[in-house]
Amino acid sequence: MQVTSRQFKENSHKALQDEELRAALNRVKQGFTTKRREAADALPEFEQLRDQARDIKNHVLENLDYYLEYFESRVKDQGGHVHWCSTHKDAKDAILKICKDAGAKTVTKGKSMITEELALNKFLEAQGIEPIETDLGEYIIQLADEPPSHIIGPAVHKTREQVTELFHEHHQKYGYTEREEDAEKLVGEARAVLRHKYVTADVGITGANFLVAETGSTVIVTNEGNGDLTQSLPKTHIVVASLEKVIPTLEDVSTVMRVLARSATGQEMSVYTTFSTGPRRKDDIDGPENFHVILLDGGRSEMIGTELQELLRCIRCGACMNHCPVYHAVGGHSYGWVYPGPIGAALNPQMVGLEEALHLPNASSFCGRCEEVCPVRIPLPKILRHWREKAFEQQIAPKPDRWGIELWGFFAKRPGLYRQVTKIAAKMLSLMAGKEGRLKKLPFNNGWTRVRDLPAPQGETFMQQWQKKQKREG
Ligand code: SF4
Repeated sequence: MQVTSRQFKENSHKALQDEELRAALNRVKQGFTTKRREAADALPEFEQLRDQARDIKNHVLENLDYYLEYFESRVKDQGGHVHWCSTHKDAKDAILKICKDAGAKTVTKGKSMITEELALNKFLEAQGIEPIETDLGEYIIQLADEPPSHIIGPAVHKTREQVTELFHEHHQKYGYTEREEDAEKLVGEARAVLRHKYVTADVGITGANFLVAETGSTVIVTNEGNGDLTQSLPKTHIVVASLEKVIPTLEDVSTVMRVLARSATGQEMSVYTTFSTGPRRKDDIDGPENFHVILLDGGRSEMIGTELQELLRCIRCGACMNHCPVYHAVGGHSYGWVYPGPIGAALNPQMVGLEEALHLPNASSFCGRCEEVCPVRIPLPKILRHWREKAFEQQIAPKPDRWGIELWGFFAKRPGLYRQVTKIAAKMLSLMAGKEGRLKKLPFNNGWTRVRDLPAPQGETFMQQWQKKQKREG
C-alpha cells in the first residue's frame, strides 16, 4: 500500500470537508463505543480479564523464540509448513511460490491486515493471479480500489448509497442489472456473487487472530463465516500472520477472546471462531490438502526490548480508534498507511519510518481514552510521547515546534522569569481580546484560531491566585 502519512494534514483537511465521511464516522462514534461499554459493564470480571490478557501477551513477548519454535514444530507434526519471513518481500515471494506450485489463477481472501501491509492484492494481480476479498467490508473497498479505513470495519467510511453505486457498477456482468438500495438485499447480492468464487478458487488466504503454540492451530474470528469457506474449500490454505500473534495454549486463547470481541464490537463472542490445525486428515470430510503458515517479522523483532515492545500486545480490536476524537474527525485514510487511529499513530512511525509518519504522533489530544479502553492496556499516549521526543532529538520536528519547545524550556528552567513573562503575556492577551473576552487571532498560532476563537485569560495567573490563597490560609 502506498504510504501517504507524510500528507496527514492535507489528508485530514480533505476528510473534514467530506460530508458523507462525516455521516459514516458518526456511526462509529456512537455505535461501537456504546456497545463496548454495555458489554464491559455486563461482565464483572472484565477488568481482571484485561489484566490477564496483558500478562499472557507480555509472557509471550518475553519468550517469543520459544513459543514460535514450539508452534512451528506442532504445525509440522500436523503435516503443515511454516515459512519464516523477515521482510515483506520474503513473505510475498513465499506466497507467490505456493500459489504457483498450486497452479493458482484465483485466490479467495479472508480479512487480514498483514496482507494489507504486504499490498498483496496488487502484487498478485501483477503476477496474473486474481485475488478476491470475501469479507464484505474488504470486498466493498476492493471494488472501490481503496485501502481499509478501520481495522475491523474496513468499509466503515462508505455509506449505503455508495455501496449501491459500487455494486451496480461491478455486478451487472453477473446479471444484477437493477440498482439495489435495500441493505439486506445488497448483502444477499454480494453473497451470491462470492459463493461462486469460493468454489472455484485454487488457494484460500486468511490472516490469524492467534497462533496456538500447544496445538499448532491458527485461529480466526469473523462475523460472516467467509473465513471458513476461504480456508476449507480451496485445495491450498495459506495463513499470513505476524510473529507476535502466537499464544501459548488454547486456554490462553479463550481468555484473550473474552476481551477481544467485547472491545471490538461489543459482542460477547464473534459469530464464528474457527481453528485450523494442519491440512485435511484421512477421515476429514473437508479441508485443504496443503496448509502453509507465513510467519512475518516485518520489523517487529526490532521492537522487542525497546519502549515499543508493548505495542506488540495489540490484538487489533479497533477500540482505540473507536474512542479517539481525532479518528472520529478525520477517519482512517488520513493516517496514510494500513493502521489508523491511536495504534496507527504509535505503530506506523516504526513501520514506515518516523520522518514519513512525523505528523501521526501529534494526531492526538492526549485525552487518554485509547489507553483506557485498550483490552491489553497498551500505554498509547506514552508511546506517542516517545515518538515526539524522538522527532525532537533527531531534529525532524517542524522548526516552529522545535523553537517553541526550546523557548518554553528556557523559561521553564527559570521559574521567576517564567512567572513574570506569563503575567505580562496574560495581560496582553486579555487586552487583545477586547470587550468580548475572546481571541479571534493568536500571534504565531493562527492554526488554532482559523476555525475557532479562544477565551482570553482573565484576571490573575494561576500562580498569583495560588500565592494569595496560601497567604490567606496562613
Ligand atoms: S492498541 Fe489496544 S485498543 Fe487499539 S487495536 Fe490494539 S488492542 Fe485494540
